[in-house]
Amino acid sequence: MSLTNSNFDDVRNWDIEHHLHPWEGMEDPAAYERTFVEGGEGIYVTNEAGEKFIDGPAGMWCVQVGYGNTDIPQAMAKQALEMAYVSPFSNSNSASAQLAHEIAKRTPGDLNTVFFTTGGSTAVDSALRFVQFRNNLMGKREKKVIISRQKAYHGSTYLSSSVSGKERDKGWLDQAEGLVYFLPNVNPYVRGKAQTVAEFLDEKVADLENAILEIGPEKVAAFIAEPILASGGVIVPPKGYHKRCLEVCRKYDVLYISDEVVTGFGRLGHWFASEAVFDIVPDIITCAKGLTSGYVPMGACIISDRLIEDISGDASKGATFSNGFTYSGHPVSAAAALANIEVFERDHILEHVHKVTPLFLERLHALAELPLVGDARGEGLMGCVECHVKAEGDQLSMDHEVGGMIDAHCAKMGLLLRPLINMCVFSPPLVIEEAQINQMFDILGEGIRRTT
Ligand code: PLP
Repeated sequence: MSLTNSNFDDVRNWDIEHHLHPWEGMEDPAAYERTFVEGGEGIYVTNEAGEKFIDGPAGMWCVQVGYGNTDIPQAMAKQALEMAYVSPFSNSNSASAQLAHEIAKRTPGDLNTVFFTTGGSTAVDSALRFVQFRNNLMGKREKKVIISRQKAYHGSTYLSSSVSGKERDKGWLDQAEGLVYFLPNVNPYVRGKAQTVAEFLDEKVADLENAILEIGPEKVAAFIAEPILASGGVIVPPKGYHKRCLEVCRKYDVLYISDEVVTGFGRLGHWFASEAVFDIVPDIITCAKGLTSGYVPMGACIISDRLIEDISGDASKGATFSNGFTYSGHPVSAAAALANIEVFERDHILEHVHKVTPLFLERLHALAELPLVGDARGEGLMGCVECHVKAEGDQLSMDHEVGGMIDAHCAKMGLLLRPLINMCVFSPPLVIEEAQINQMFDILGEGIRRTT
């Protein structure tokens, strides 16, 4: 339907009157100052007034190949014209079969079975349900508890939100009670002042082991972890953390789910970060976002051969994995993902991320010199500045909305960020060039200075 007869005030009013946005306060929808993003090219987006911004968060950590790519939409159009939809129940289609094959070629170890979903939340949900299914079939019906971590974000379905660890999101929505155990924050920045990083690491690994022992290993089904906690504030755990946690999981027959919804598809310079960056081969990987560079929704939950073998053949007892979506493996999404992979390879996107990451991290770490900034951290093309506003004991207070103030200053200078309480996070499109990285950090530095 064409909007040509409508002026932009109508559009804004429709949005206020009829459109409930995610994560939004209910007090007064009209009070939100919303950027209407109407166009984009490369790392830039334009608003309804034609103003241009660097898209610091790449949409929502997802527009890996940048805006305005034509290969992906052309592949989608071709697929939609040939066959727009196939039910994934009993049927299949070439695009989703080929995509499963291409994903399996790029995953670590024996993670070779791909279950398609509609996005990241449903990938996590399906991973958790698969764990339940497998344990129940294997007669381990007591193994139900999922261990997660404070500050984790795993999604917005009932189950994936229940394993998410952001307290501020939980006040008014019910959670799956008794199913989840949260480990304390793994952010080295908030460790006690007297503690070394090595001691902090030992403590965090011990937190996991102690939790398993406290709950009882026979009751713990899985540990779920983002390699880097993304919307928790780009929390990079100390080196060796994931490997040691995996060892603990193996010791107690606890499955390890690596939530790569953000880190998958190039964000850290690899198809998947679990093995390439963190030296682990988990039991399940979840991904979404960068899988299609955000051009169309899709997610996947990728399961190891070991888990599949546990419940195949006679061990299957004739059971059905009763979990799936009308749009699992949607052919148009699969065509988009296949084209996205082709673009990554043709344009050497992973190599490009390796090339520009040193400058990104150098400029990021330099922000720590600014008086307002307590910590400037990141990995690959993910970054966060965390402002310290006041110290309480040996912990830094997190209750100040200074991130929004920095974001407002930066927006005026042409940079969009993602403010989170006292932090701003950013994860630009992977195609960002070095000059654009400099432009982005010049603005960010100035935005922080103006906030001081
Ligand atoms: N897992 C992680 C690590 C995420 O960051 C997100 C979303 O930001 C999700 C899961 C949920 O993905 P989606 O919003 O596509 O459902």
